[in-house]
Amino acid sequence: MQHVDIGIVGGGIVGLTLAAALKDSSLSVGVIDKHPLSTASGDKATSRVSAINQANITALQNLNVWPHVQPNRANPYVAMHVWDKDSFGDIHFHCHEMGSDTLGVIVENQALVNALAHTVEKQNNVQVFETSIERVLSGPNQNMVMFDNSDVLSCRLLIGADGANSFVRQQAGFPITFKDYEHTAIVANIKTEMSHESVARQAFTPTGPLALLPMSEPNICSIVWSQSPDKANELMAMDDTAFCHALAAVSNSILGTVELETKRSAFPLTMRYAREWAKDGIALVGDAAHTIHPLAGQGANLGMQDALELAELLQTLSSEGSDIGLHKNLRPYERSRKTEAMKMIAAMDGFKLLFDGNDPIKKLIRGIGLAATDKVSVIKQAFVSHAMGL
Ligand SMILES: Cc1cc2nc3c(=O)[nH]c(=O)nc-3n(C[C@H](O)[C@H](O)[C@H](O)COP(=O)(O)OP(=O)(O)OC[C@H]3O[C@@H](n4cnc5c(N)ncnc54)[C@H](O)[C@@H]3O)c2cc1C
Repeated sequence: MQHVDIGIVGGGIVGLTLAAALKDSSLSVGVIDKHPLSTASGDKATSRVSAINQANITALQNLNVWPHVQPNRANPYVAMHVWDKDSFGDIHFHCHEMGSDTLGVIVENQALVNALAHTVEKQNNVQVFETSIERVLSGPNQNMVMFDNSDVLSCRLLIGADGANSFVRQQAGFPITFKDYEHTAIVANIKTEMSHESVARQAFTPTGPLALLPMSEPNICSIVWSQSPDKANELMAMDDTAFCHALAAVSNSILGTVELETKRSAFPLTMRYAREWAKDGIALVGDAAHTIHPLAGQGANLGMQDALELAELLQTLSSEGSDIGLHKNLRPYERSRKTEAMKMIAAMDGFKLLFDGNDPIKKLIRGIGLAATDKVSVIKQAFVSHAMGL
């Protein structure tokens, strides 16, 4: 049996951000994932990407992770164009309005995980265990984590960074609130006739939003097209040509004709919110604690902020000689991050409600809201500042 102070189950973006942020602490850390952390990148861009905001990029730069992100797998975007297909609402943001060179970066998830893994695997205080966990036995001062290869790891604090269907959350008995968004996101990479010019675009349609995220090649975009499950099934069943015609039509052919670069994948979207995030010896971060609609690209961003805030608290507790496993010591993290997640969930619900459907009053509100945000510089700056995570 081995022992670490902190066991992190999940070596995704969030779990690895937490391990990286603990680099200067005296705490020993075990990262457990059922898959190898890094995967060699192929020739072509992959379609699972995240728009990482400026606040998190700065944090990754400070942790010396960002320089290890393969440059052709991340693209800074300089502007955003959001429009409502069904009203006169249309809004443009440019990074120069914020005195910044970028609004954020579209990065392939695996490229970010690879960069984080590169950093974490070099940390003296981290051990990586490539195995699945089968069981957690929680005692008053230790958790015993049983691996599927029969090994056992003991740790004072066990952190669930194991994604939406978190096993740690289930073992801890934390209840969740969940809601089916009644949307399925279709994800793929497309090749566009015109260059995207590093502008992130999002069209709101009565049946759901379509995001066109600019990748590092000027004619490749990653799409996230959220639709009702029936409509998504219909789109998934189309042949490539019919799908591309439907996509060009819904995006007003803003980038000309399009071709598929990768196959399409579909993700049913569910809001999940753990009603408890911590107890003695256990805490949750990232998708294990919350999942939200991707329409504003905030899930990974929220999760990374959970990780950074928890790491800071754990380092403070450890340097004071306080117990990192006591629930009362973890409460400041739980309180503060639950509030942020709740605010984001409420905002996504508001957006979805406002932009769903053809109701004429909603259309008017959307048109006026987007037009006003575009014209009133104070509102616009507040909006962009929020999107940048500042
Ligand atoms: C279509 C779509 C688009 C999105 N776009 C954006 C965006 O633009 N911006 C943004 O910020 N967010 C976005 N998100 C959300 C974002 O992808 C997630 O919030 C983020 O990836 C969650 O990271 P995580 O590390 O918490 O979990 P995960 O990425 O799910 O990682 C969990 C890890 O735990 C491991 N694991 C699970 N169970 C076990 C076990 N029992 N034992 C050992 N290991 C285990 C898994 O192998 C995995 O590596 C999007 C989501 C979707 C669906």
